[in-house]
This record gives sequence, structure tokens and C-alpha cells, in this order.
Amino acid sequence: MARLDGKVCVITGAGSGIGAAAARRFAAEGGSVVVVDLDETAGSAIAKEVDGLFVRTDVTSADDVQAAFAAAIERFGGLDVLVNNAGISPPQDDSILDTDQDAWDLVQRVNLTSVYLCCKYGIPHLLERGGGSVINTASFVALMGAATSQISYTASKGGVLAMSRELGVQFARQGVRVNAICPGPVDTPLLRDLFAADPERAARRLVHIPMGRFARPEEIASAMLFLASDDSSFITASTFLVDGGITAAYVTPL
Ligand code: NAD
Repeated sequence: MARLDGKVCVITGAGSGIGAAAARRFAAEGGSVVVVDLDETAGSAIAKEVDGLFVRTDVTSADDVQAAFAAAIERFGGLDVLVNNAGISPPQDDSILDTDQDAWDLVQRVNLTSVYLCCKYGIPHLLERGGGSVINTASFVALMGAATSQISYTASKGGVLAMSRELGVQFARQGVRVNAICPGPVDTPLLRDLFAADPERAARRLVHIPMGRFARPEEIASAMLFLASDDSSFITASTFLVDGGITAAYVTPL
């Protein structure tokens, strides 16, 4: 039996990067996948590829989020797994000295308020099924400081981590598990373009990673699959690091 047979899985930000890798992996493991994204072209292409449902959604809108869950239930009959993964990291979010309030607010809305909305309106559906798994994408920056600040992004991921812990504790006896996944830097097109243009910037970061490389999106998707499946049935409220050892390292190998 595949690990997600019979499970309905809603993945936000599944049009690209980590979310797209999760959509592919979850479908390969038997899950019915609902691709939720703002980007209609990318989202519908992934949904087609995984034989799932695409719902164009702005995850900062309570109405959109509720409509996405309603569409998922209409198509597949219920919800079992929520991967609240959509997020942004715009260049206007920088040092606190240079980040204006509009940039701060935008990142908080997309990265943190969206997780609040998806949990607020999604968890009741999991409770209706007698349980389920929620995976919220935080980041290793929720745990470590950087001199190369993106202040709102970091604060938003700290919020995702703390909220996930609290929800995991609150719903533990009702069968709903809530975990925060904390990826290290992932080799996405965005990161590659940034570092190809500025190799020194890449080198400054790579030196801190014991494994000496960035993660592949598929490696984060594998951890999400574990947290989504019953293989992780005793894991909740966790800070689930998938970071190549960054947060454990003081001196890294040469
Ligand atoms: P990505 O840019 O490749 O994909 C993000 C997706 O979210 C896009 O398809 C985008 O259209 C969608 N999105 C953005 N705003 C939205 C909105 N308002 N409503 C609905 N969808 C929206 O990013 P990624 O690198 O795959 O990152 C996914 C998650 O992982 C994010 O939460 C990010 O913060 C986190 N993360 C990424 C890294 C990394 O190095 N890439 C590291 C740690 C954590």
C-alpha cells in the first residue's frame, strides 16, 4: 500500500519549488492532491501532472481559503493533510533600518496570516474526519540569526513555528497532528539566480552548511511526506529540521 492511499492533501504554494515537489511526491504515494496557488498557469500545470485539482487562491484572503477547502471537499469528499507552504521573500524585506511598513506587512500576511487562515478554516475539516496532519513551512531562520537580515521574513517564520507548536499541543488528543518543518536553504530557481549573479553571496552561506550544499526541493518533500503519513503518528508540535546540519554546527568540515 502507498503511504498516502485514500488521503486528501491540500498543498499551498504548490505551483513552484518545494510545494510542487510535495505535490508530485504525495501523488506518487497515492494521495489526492489539491494544488492551491496564486499563479494560475503554474498551479494548473502541476495539478494536471499529478491528476489533482487546482484552485486559484490568494492565501491571505479568508474567503479564498474557505472556498479552496470547499472545492477540495466537493471534489474529494474531505480533508486529511494540510501543507501550508506558500511564502514569499521579496527584496524590499531587508535590514530593519531599510524595510518600510508596507514590505513588513506584505510578508507577514503571505507567510504568517496565511498559515493562521489555513489552520483556522482547515483544522475543523480534519476534526470532522477524526484526525489528520498539518505541516506548516517555517524555516531554519526561525531558530538562527543572520547578519544578512530579512527582518519580516524571519519574524514571520518564528510566528509559524510558535503557532504550529501551540496547535500541535491543543489538538493532540483529537488526532490532529501539527508540525513545523524548518528547511535550510533550498536550491530553487530563485536562489540559483541570486547566487549565480553573486558567487560570493553563495560562498558566504555554503560555508555554514556541514553538508556543503543546498537542499533539493525533493528532499524537503520527502520530510513532508513522512510528516503527512502515519509513519510519523507519534510526532506532533515538533520543530522538524531538514537543514543539512546548519543549526547544529559551530565549525563545519573543510
Ligand atoms: P517558491 O517561490 O518556489 O514557491 C512559492 C509558491 O507560493 C509560488 O508558486 C507562489 O505563486 C505561491 N504564492 C505566493 N504568494 C501566494 C499567495 N498570496 N497565495 C497563494 N500562493 C502564493 O518558494 P519555495 O522556495 O518553494 O518556498 C516554499 C516555502 O518554503 C516558503 O514558505 C518559504 O518561505 C519556505 N522556505 C524556503 C526556503 C528556500 O531556500 N527556498 C528555505 C526555507 C523555507
